[in-house]
This record gives sequence, C-alpha cells and structure tokens, in this order.
Amino acid sequence: MAPGLRTRAFLFNTLLADKATDDRLRRYPHWLAARNLANEASDESVRALIEAVRGRYEIARRWYRLKAKLLGVEQLADYDRMAAVTEDEVTFPFAQAREIVLDCYSSFSGELGELAGRFFAERRIDAPVRPAKRGGAFCASAVPSVFPYVLLNYTARRRDVLTLAHELGHGVHFALAARQGIFHQHTPLTLAETASVFGETIVFGRLLEEDSTPASRLALLAENLEDTIATVFRQVAMNRFEDLVHTARREQGELSVERFGELWAESQSEMLGDSVALTEGYRSWWSYVPHFIGSPGYVYAYAYGQLLALSVYQRYEQQGAELVPRYLEMLAAGGSRSPEELGEIVGVNLADPGFWDAGLDLVERQLQEAEAAAQASGRL
Ligand SMILES: [Zn+2]
Repeated sequence: MAPGLRTRAFLFNTLLADKATDDRLRRYPHWLAARNLANEASDESVRALIEAVRGRYEIARRWYRLKAKLLGVEQLADYDRMAAVTEDEVTFPFAQAREIVLDCYSSFSGELGELAGRFFAERRIDAPVRPAKRGGAFCASAVPSVFPYVLLNYTARRRDVLTLAHELGHGVHFALAARQGIFHQHTPLTLAETASVFGETIVFGRLLEEDSTPASRLALLAENLEDTIATVFRQVAMNRFEDLVHTARREQGELSVERFGELWAESQSEMLGDSVALTEGYRSWWSYVPHFIGSPGYVYAYAYGQLLALSVYQRYEQQGAELVPRYLEMLAAGGSRSPEELGEIVGVNLADPGFWDAGLDLVERQLQEAEAAAQASGRL
C-alpha cells in the first residue's frame, strides 16, 4: 500500500467523525451547511450550481478527448490530464499590455477605466520579475482609506496580460467597495473573484479577436480552458467526493482505505466518463487534497466564483451597456449584502440552475472555438 496512506485514512476518518459531532451539536442540518453559512451562500444556490455543472460534465469530457487527439493518444490516462498540448509564442511588452487592458476596461465603463488607470499613473503595480521576489500575483487592498496595490511577475506572455486584467479587476472592486468601510469592503469568498474573472474575460475576448493564427488561437484557448475545467469541473467533482465521504462516515461509520478509493473513483469517473482512464494508482489521490482535511466543503467556492463571473459576463454580452451601471453598483456594494442580494442588483437569481448554465454556455463556446482552431491548425 502507498506509504502513509493508512495513516492518512485514519486521520481523515477521525476528522470526518469530529465534524459530524460538531455539526450535530451545533444543529447544522447537513455536512455542507456550516460552509454555506460562512460563504453567505444559500443551500439552494449551491445546489443549483452543483446540479448545473454535473449536468454539463460532457464539456470536461470533450476537452479531454480533444487533448488526447492533440497528444496523439487514443485516451488520456489520469496522469496525462495536465500535460501541456500547446506552446504560446505570442508576447506583449508591458506598455502594450497596459494599453490593451486599459482600453478594455474603459470601453466597458469610463469609471472602471479611470480607476484601473490610477494603478499605472500612481505606480501601484510591482510588475517585473526580480531575484528573491515572491512568485504569483495578487492585489492587496490594505484598508479602505488606502487605494490598493498589485503585485505581478510579468514575463510578457499572454497569460501575464490576463493576470494583469485579473488583478486590476480585484483592484477596481476593492476601490469601488472602499466606501463600505472596513467590515464590508470585502465580499465573502464566493463573490471575491467576480470582478477579476469578469475583467479577465473581457481582455481574453480582445486577445482572441486580435489573433487570426489558428495555432496561437489554440494556445490561448487551451490554456484558458485548462484553467476553467480545473476551477469549475474538477472542484465540483471534488465536492461530490466530499459529499460521498461525509455522508458515508455519518451513516456507515469508519471508512477503509479501499472505501475512500472507491468513493474517489466514483466521484471522478462521474465527471470523466470514458474520456480519461483512471489507473489503479489514482485511487489514493483523494489523500493529496489539503482542503478535504483543513477546510471541509471549501472547494465548491472556486467553481461558484468563476461561474458566477462568467454567467454575469454572459448577461453583459446579451444586454450590453444596460448592465454596466448595475454591475458597478454591485461591485460598490462590496460585501454589505449576501451574494444572492448582490446578484439581484444585476438581475440574476443564483438559486436558478439556468443562471449557472449561462456561464457554462460560455465555456462550451470556448471549447468549440478550440476544436475549430485545432482543426484549422492541422493538428487533428
Ligand atoms: Zn483572483
């Protein structure tokens, strides 16, 4: 047996039982209730999200089938899933990235464009890569009276342009919501990525529109799809695993290593179907996810945030300028209201699976474009 697996299963069993006791004493009606309360998300909206994503698992399967073709194999195995299938050669100097991102923000809304412009004008972005600088990217809001700062590690790839757009989305969100004060400037986790993903999606559309070379369009689409599939579909499949283990632990008592492996394989193959072959070694992979141990129920929030932003974006595509003032009002409300009340400002109902489906339509459209680009680039 894999080294330490029995120990990890023992610890997980203990933590699952501990949580069951806690939930019972605190009278939470089900295993996810405490997490939903912390996220200020209603049970109905979380259920609607999960059901909408499960209903569209075919999108993830189609993506993995396309990847298999691009890699020249009949079927992906679990260990192939993150293999790179394209290389992005296109580069953007920082000045050009600034121009594109500011233009996208301004053409969406003058007010957002101005706020985004302040980050450059006031030198609030630490962009270059330097020795000993920390990796990644983030936006720091500090306190409401201070305009936010952004950290990047800009290497001129298109991914970096999108990251700039993403972090500035956080930036304008923090800046607009500053008026709510220290307790309400920040949204709960489920809404924290709305403005960032939204801004990123606008810029993504622009980059794609400006690129007519099939191979590099494919590279742009592939990288983006890989992220979205991981954020939306894999996290929901992980939520399904959590649902199975918490329920089984409560109803059947201690779970064996084999049982954990079965429930893991069951929840993952529900998503993957026959698009990915799950090998014997994959059955222990439940034990590598720290969230299951340290923050039970957490994982669906990634999908919730990403899909919420995409669904609102889809609405923007339909309504155009009409949505803009209401979108700004929603951002400016910060975390002063629940996600569902904030959704109402832009006219959406988070408890309606149809709302989540709109974002999934956008993902499916990108997948179709990737398939077309793969065809056009002669790689199929
Ligand atoms: Zn973010």
